[in-house]
Amino acid sequence: MEEISVKAYGKVNLCLDVLGVLPNGYHEVSMIMQTVDLYDVVTVKKSAEPGIRVTCDKGDVPEGPENLAYRAADALLWEAGIDPALDIHIQKNIPVAAGMAGGSTDCAAVLDAVNILFDLKRSRKALQRIGVKLGADVPYCLMGGTALSEGIGEILSTLPEPPKCVVVLAKPDLHISTKYVYDHLDLSVVTHPPVKAMLEDLEKGDLTGLCSHMGNVLESVTGPEHPEVGKIEEIMKNEGALQAVMSGSGPTVFGIFEDAGKAEKAKESILASGLSKEVFVSRFTTPERN
Ligand code: ATP
Repeated sequence: MEEISVKAYGKVNLCLDVLGVLPNGYHEVSMIMQTVDLYDVVTVKKSAEPGIRVTCDKGDVPEGPENLAYRAADALLWEAGIDPALDIHIQKNIPVAAGMAGGSTDCAAVLDAVNILFDLKRSRKALQRIGVKLGADVPYCLMGGTALSEGIGEILSTLPEPPKCVVVLAKPDLHISTKYVYDHLDLSVVTHPPVKAMLEDLEKGDLTGLCSHMGNVLESVTGPEHPEVGKIEEIMKNEGALQAVMSGSGPTVFGIFEDAGKAEKAKESILASGLSKEVFVSRFTTPERN
């Protein structure tokens, strides 16, 4: 095999809690992760020319070693003792710097692709051990679906999928640094979302309960600084969303709808408000590799 294309799916956090800061400075998290049906297409191609080259069809994505896709190929081939000679192309559909794990999912896709292309036969666990050094969300992106993520993101448990629903994703035109958000998080004032209650909702298949328990402690930093986040949530709720919250460190807001027509109408209202140009009507999904 000379070339392979892999779908790299984005995620949202149905629940995102931060429990504390570990002695090594990393944050201990408790998050319920969910893959959405919005994906980049990552193509990895063997080349006669030594080195790794990354290209992307979207301008605001780095094309050199700062790209997580580059670092994934470099790390896995180095570990396998193979001199890299690869071209990687990313067709970017997931909003960038959005709280949807766009870089981490491309990183996971390249680990999968290189593993197959070079017939390395690394287990998912082995890829996750390499991936966690590149980004806290990478181990989750290597599995996808619905999962509880604990520790610094490396302790993962598969959960039942939420009941069928429609999801509207809207990324306001803001740049938010994940590091800034974590650095400014004050755990003494946040309301911790009820992760345990959501685990029960998932077991019972209770969408209303799940929506009532959604929450994200990072919104305590991003929300007050960027009123666009709260305004988009309001539009979604006014248009019939059962719930709307921010994903990851933001600024993407996602709303859950039972009715596809209301979801489409919410998308139109958000676009008309001028608060976001990147709005998608999507679904929750579990990628095939599970
Ligand atoms: P997370 O949810 O994991 O915090 P994010 O969705 O907030 O991630 P990304 O889309 O991964 O953010 O982008 C964050 C930064 O990472 C970008 O500003 C970009 O410079 C860099 N980056 C590196 N590799 C990629 C990639 N393959 N795709 C997008 N951004 C990348």
